[in-house]
Amino acid sequence: MTHHSEPLPDWVPPLLAWFKRHQRILPWRSEPTPYRVLVSEFMLQQTQVATVIPYFERFMRAFPTLADLAAADQAAVLKQWEGLGYYARARRLQECARMIMAQGGEIPADPAELARLPGIGLYTAAAIASIAFGRSFPVVDGNVLRVRARLLADPADQSRASIKRQVYNDLLAIIRQVDDPSAFNQALMEISALVCQPRQPRCAECPLQNACRAVAEGAATAYPRRPQTKVVPHYHVAVGLIFNGDRLLIMQRSTEQMLGGLWEFPGGKLEQDETPVQAVEREVLEETGLQVQAAPPLALIRHAYSHFRMTMHVCRCTLPDTIGEILSDRPHHWVKREELNAFPFPTANHKIFALPAFVEAFNHD
Ligand code: SF4
Repeated sequence: MTHHSEPLPDWVPPLLAWFKRHQRILPWRSEPTPYRVLVSEFMLQQTQVATVIPYFERFMRAFPTLADLAAADQAAVLKQWEGLGYYARARRLQECARMIMAQGGEIPADPAELARLPGIGLYTAAAIASIAFGRSFPVVDGNVLRVRARLLADPADQSRASIKRQVYNDLLAIIRQVDDPSAFNQALMEISALVCQPRQPRCAECPLQNACRAVAEGAATAYPRRPQTKVVPHYHVAVGLIFNGDRLLIMQRSTEQMLGGLWEFPGGKLEQDETPVQAVEREVLEETGLQVQAAPPLALIRHAYSHFRMTMHVCRCTLPDTIGEILSDRPHHWVKREELNAFPFPTANHKIFALPAFVEAFNHD
């Protein structure tokens, strides 16, 4: 039955027309009996169409009917599944067949009933109901979400739990208006597999490009949007303010390093279980050969770079009575406070310069 309560979205007619002409010939598509659709949908969970085809055909030869599958040895079923992976699917498919046989042998057409069977979630239930029985229930998976998010340039986070329900309802309103719900669902799946692919959508040859808002924005792959889940690493760094009279030791970063060529105070990342004081004393010794005594941090500086965040512990250091030569390949200087401006420093260091404790440290020496 066709309803015409609302106009169809402009992408639907070209999608259906494209599917009519360009759909792949698939064994379960050309003969969509409920049993064949059931088996194909189990095989297609987690596996691509091209991989599934030979397995499907072999499986159908081995178990031509639902009754054959239900009566088979589990080992024989697994043998036919061998190489397809995710073997729990094979076991559940057979459980499903046995349960249906126990209930009279008819595969249900109603998605709610289908979803009560082992291994059948909402997606598979809607796929079977629409493809095998022509019922108007939309399929919604990551592929459908991707195509729809692009068509509508929908900025919503597509991983949100509520989005599936919302998209399901939107597509339900559409699928109820089309003449062939099976073709509608399969067309969406087909275009997601052949044209609107995740990384490289073929927009130039896409039948929906005139209706596609993501393409109008010139940003097909900007959709679907996902949350930024990357965890930004956070490092603790300790640096030493080493005074010699009214002069402070600064060193140049090597050009191979990030911020190469800029100047800094000796120091580095805290190692596991190290305190800032221990880290400063170790780093200063490694970088300069000086055996200093560090005081507990006089300040904490927080700074975010593009790929990490850093907390810098700033420790004042006391030199030993006799200062040896500084053992380092890196250029270094003992500078007065007013000379600091002549050297380029990373932003985090400018935060140190602005600290009252830093200014005070100079005045005391
Ligand atoms: Fe996907 Fe591009 Fe087609 Fe839009 S035009 S539906 S982004 S392939």
